[in-house]
Amino acid sequence: MSADYTVQGDLAVITMNNPPINGLGLSTRLAIVAGLEKALADDQVKAIVLTGAGKAFSGGADIKEFGSPKAIQEPNLLSVIVALENASKPVIAAVHTVAMGGGLELALGCHYRIAAPGCDVALPEVKLGLIPGAGGTQRLPRVLGVEAALNMIVSGEAIKSEMLAMLPGQKLFDQMASSPQSLAQEAADFAHEVLQNHVPGMALPRVRDLPCKHPNAQAFFKFSTNMVNGMTKGKYPAPLKCIEAVQNATTMKFDEGMRAEREIFTNLMWTPECRALRHLFVAQRAASKIEDVPSTTPVREIKSVAVIGAGTMGGGISMNFLNAGIPVKMLEMKQDALDRGLAIIEKNYQAQVKKGKLKEDKLKQRMGLLSTTLSYDEIRDADLVIEAVFEEMGVKETVFKKLDSVMKPGAILASNTSTLDVNAIAGFTQRPQDVVGLHFFSPANVMKLLEVVRGAKTGKDVMATVMGVAKKIKKTAVVSGVCDGFIGNRMIEQYSRQAGFLIEEGCTPQQVDKAVEKFGFAMGPFRMGDLAGNDIGWAIRKRRYQEKPDMKYSKTADLLCEQGRFGQKVGKGWYDYVAGKRDAIPNKDVEDMIAQHRTAMGITPRKISDEEIVQRLVFSLVNEAAYILEEGIAARASDIDMVYITGYGFPIYRGGPMNYADQLGLFNVVQAMKRFALNPHDDAQFWQPAPLLARLAADGKTFN
Ligand code: NAD
Repeated sequence: MSADYTVQGDLAVITMNNPPINGLGLSTRLAIVAGLEKALADDQVKAIVLTGAGKAFSGGADIKEFGSPKAIQEPNLLSVIVALENASKPVIAAVHTVAMGGGLELALGCHYRIAAPGCDVALPEVKLGLIPGAGGTQRLPRVLGVEAALNMIVSGEAIKSEMLAMLPGQKLFDQMASSPQSLAQEAADFAHEVLQNHVPGMALPRVRDLPCKHPNAQAFFKFSTNMVNGMTKGKYPAPLKCIEAVQNATTMKFDEGMRAEREIFTNLMWTPECRALRHLFVAQRAASKIEDVPSTTPVREIKSVAVIGAGTMGGGISMNFLNAGIPVKMLEMKQDALDRGLAIIEKNYQAQVKKGKLKEDKLKQRMGLLSTTLSYDEIRDADLVIEAVFEEMGVKETVFKKLDSVMKPGAILASNTSTLDVNAIAGFTQRPQDVVGLHFFSPANVMKLLEVVRGAKTGKDVMATVMGVAKKIKKTAVVSGVCDGFIGNRMIEQYSRQAGFLIEEGCTPQQVDKAVEKFGFAMGPFRMGDLAGNDIGWAIRKRRYQEKPDMKYSKTADLLCEQGRFGQKVGKGWYDYVAGKRDAIPNKDVEDMIAQHRTAMGITPRKISDEEIVQRLVFSLVNEAAYILEEGIAARASDIDMVYITGYGFPIYRGGPMNYADQLGLFNVVQAMKRFALNPHDDAQFWQPAPLLARLAADGKTFN
């Protein structure tokens, strides 16, 4: 049973006990109802306290049950809430730490609520593409007022209990406990106070009986709808539905509002957006797990970090650790490089202070954790060292040999390389078990993604340690095996190749970018190239021309680079840029250059639909990903989705390339690939579906 039942004098205490967050799965629901029945049948018991063990009152629905028949099996959450609400003895919810989603809805079904300070209170369903489905949209406005409740429901954000308790006229909490430690005692005292004024048989206060009014309802809901439309741009249906449901609370009788809430909830459940968001919720948690590295694996303590190279990446990487309160020492070859690196970090923090995102004292605190050196002797005691020097094997070799000779035993030696072989790098040391790839994305202090590259000999404890470190510095870590480009860049190479073919065949860069941005990508491939630097792709292609002379490439991007159009950093790339601005301005010379190249290739330009553009670009990711999955470079399809969502601006509401392909149906994806293979200007070889993809499509299966 996932709840404990005790009787303390004239009080029954039902304590939900389903770690880690007292999820309201079937066993918890059954146990609450069983406790309630026992308490109601026991003459000695006069009132009931409902609370949670451990680290939560309740975090809401049990995600393991999502979409399964268990989720709605009786007693479902709605029935549990009705049972509490209709209990003949006073039921007092004693909430602490976390009261979210179904957990909060459960508390709202109780007659009284007492809260500990510091409790995170939220209805976060909107983040999964849903609305609260167990009365949250009908009861919360009745206790908090329509505006405060709608804000919480539309944003899904948590608010501290003590803040909510300060809202004028709020009826969410009848009392605040003075501390989490004293909650149990204060809840018991409160229950006794209630009993002093309670005569058996007397009606008990129910949230459903409270009025729900807004003095200017029509204008308020219109304003809210406009706001939400402006923010979601029609991509996410749930926030608008939150407004509709809360509006219902002001116009409908309670039971009618509840029925409407249920109907909206059920309809949203199977929208592509909700499926995508639920998929990512699960994917995020799955990504942190490594099959052969159990959670019991011992970890090494990381109390200090050294970063080799204070350039673009070294600086950003350092900031992550400073932000987490971990001291960092940056090492360079020359003092001026250190000074430059230090100045950029300080400038970044200053910008945050100016925007009001960081307090001056925090800036000082963080800069105080940062030191610099030119000597390896001064970093020898660091627990983790991350190399971010030039992307050349020779330079990496020098650095890793040096690290091997100076670093204390047990130190973790990480490389931020984007393309080089992590096993070869590990081979420069006598301790390959301590070497791992930590592939940060630029800007490293902003981008969420961290590809953790597991070498052939990387120790399990090293993997467990760096996964923990990633969490500490708030990154989404995804494990990748060793291959050229790892997961993300290996896929993006195919995508860039397709982008090249598309302009060769008739598109303009802006047409491709617009189509992809309309699909939902943060940025199209050409704007992205300009941002990252077109010279980077050029260098990779030059290498490929040697390694894979048979691979087909459009030469347009090379022609662009030959003109020095490297992108934003030089003010010109596929587009022109005005200093200080990011607007991409189409350039006639670039368009002429593309046209001339087409003529030289003997290609008659054709009009290509946005649909074809998007399919060719996204399916190129999917096909390469299928190889990555089959080779075991990625452990799960959902890991690949996390890489693209957190590192490459793939639209969240589409759930990543693999989820998107799954939802389209892999059979359809393969059919499209077969069509693309017939295009003489494309790469027929590439469009042969990867064996895994072909198999899944033939069997009617999905990646995830
Ligand atoms: P960068 O040129 O901005 O910085 C490299 C720094 O390393 C320079 O400051 C240089 O002085 C220093 N350095 C060179 N050799 C050194 C040595 N032997 N000892 C100490 N310092 C030395 O380069 P970057 O963009 O920061 O890239 C660094 C690494 O990160 C590369 O491996 C790159 O592939 C990888 N990376 C870059 C990006 C990106 O977008 N820039 C993204 C992910 C990974």
